[in-house]
Amino acid sequence: MGRRVYGLETEYGLSARTRPPGASDWKRLTSDEAARALFAPMVNACATTGAFLSNGGRLYLDVGNHPEYATPECTSIDDLVVAERAGDELMVALAAQATDLEAQAGRDTEFRLFKNNVDSYGNTYGSHENYLVDRATDPDALTAWLVPFLVSRQAIAGAGRWHRGRFTVSQRCDALADVVSNQTTRSRPLINTRDEPHADPSRYRRLHVISGDSSLDESSAWLKYASTELVLRLAESGRPAPVSIDDPVLALRRWGRDPREASEIQARYAELSGEIAEGLEDASAAWRDASVVPEWAHKRRLIEAHRERHSLSDADPRLDALDLRWHALGTDPQGRPLGLARLLEARGELARLTDPVAVAAAREVAPGPGRARLRGCLIAAAKQHGRENTVDWASFVVHDLPASLRLDDPFVESDAEVDALVERMRAEPRRRTVGGFRPPQ
Ligand code: ATP
Ligand code: MG
Ligand code: MG
Repeated sequence: MGRRVYGLETEYGLSARTRPPGASDWKRLTSDEAARALFAPMVNACATTGAFLSNGGRLYLDVGNHPEYATPECTSIDDLVVAERAGDELMVALAAQATDLEAQAGRDTEFRLFKNNVDSYGNTYGSHENYLVDRATDPDALTAWLVPFLVSRQAIAGAGRWHRGRFTVSQRCDALADVVSNQTTRSRPLINTRDEPHADPSRYRRLHVISGDSSLDESSAWLKYASTELVLRLAESGRPAPVSIDDPVLALRRWGRDPREASEIQARYAELSGEIAEGLEDASAAWRDASVVPEWAHKRRLIEAHRERHSLSDADPRLDALDLRWHALGTDPQGRPLGLARLLEARGELARLTDPVAVAAAREVAPGPGRARLRGCLIAAAKQHGRENTVDWASFVVHDLPASLRLDDPFVESDAEVDALVERMRAEPRRRTVGGFRPPQ
């Protein structure tokens, strides 16, 4: 298979505190209150806590009170990195709207968003990567290639975690407890096998990798997705997998503490990727040369420097607090990044790959060509013409025409039915709908 679509789901950590204006004492909101307050602007606008956006992505409140952004499907890794960054910005913008809404209600409320995967109690939340694969690809071959790769991928793409004096290269190496499973929460596998392709099921599967860490460092993110793409190509080529691991869950934990063996496995995979790297030659070379400093190494260096400078013990809780601050999003009132990773990026110590102008555009407009672009046009038209609709990754329904459309091909570039529906939304008078009554205008 020569083409692929990619999507990323990010669950963000959230905390919030509030006080009456001018008061000195803050009250911390429960996670339920914080989530409801964060999504209040969306509830006000469209009476739900989940919506597809004109950029083709989906912003919603998942179970467990974690705000989530699912990027639109992208047909290149570069687009995916841009879409991910746009998602971070959209979440920060939602928090700013929520702060305004709270102020209108007479409350001074501060939201804090974190792009990490584990809270101080050890509860974990996800970063889910989605890769379209051909239904004809042998699932056992995919597993054979992917398991050693994903278990060792933390060496190149872990975000690192400093917790009570111990450092692990990945956020969740201790939380994952299985290899492949159809559960995402109970057994926490590397790969979720739930068969929901969001595309023609006779042709495609959606590989759902749920073991990765969220990234703030764009170079690490780019290498994470590109190396995974290269491994998928290797698996699809019919070659045998180069290594197997007896106990992946144990290896995950061990390599989380000492990634040297994992780096060797990554080097073996990287070596093989040269042959199938068309269009991703730069990623294959960077992977082979280990020229991208992993996010965990940047983080560890920063924390250790702080420990030395202030003569702190390893177990000093201030170091745990620094770990959390690494992941913060948003800025202070002076426009300075709240998060340490974003601060290093602003100082040029972490490379920024995305163009801020492209990221700003990706907040509004879907990547293309591809299905996301068509979905984005339909959503924009529905909004413009006040049409009640229901959107999903592979369908679009307008209730008051009524009309419905399937979009089963993620690669579709243009579709006469989409054009016709956009025109109908513009031209036809609105009808009253059952269950979705709209007063006459
Ligand atoms: P959950 O609500 O349990 O997270 P989910 O994984 O089905 O369910 P979403 O959170 O809505 O759903 O996210 C789906 C992700 O999959 C998006 O990032 C989207 O871009 C991506 N995606 C959609 N269709 C495909 C496809 N055919 N192949 C690969 N990725 C896809
Ligand atoms: Mg999701
Ligand atoms: Mg998912």
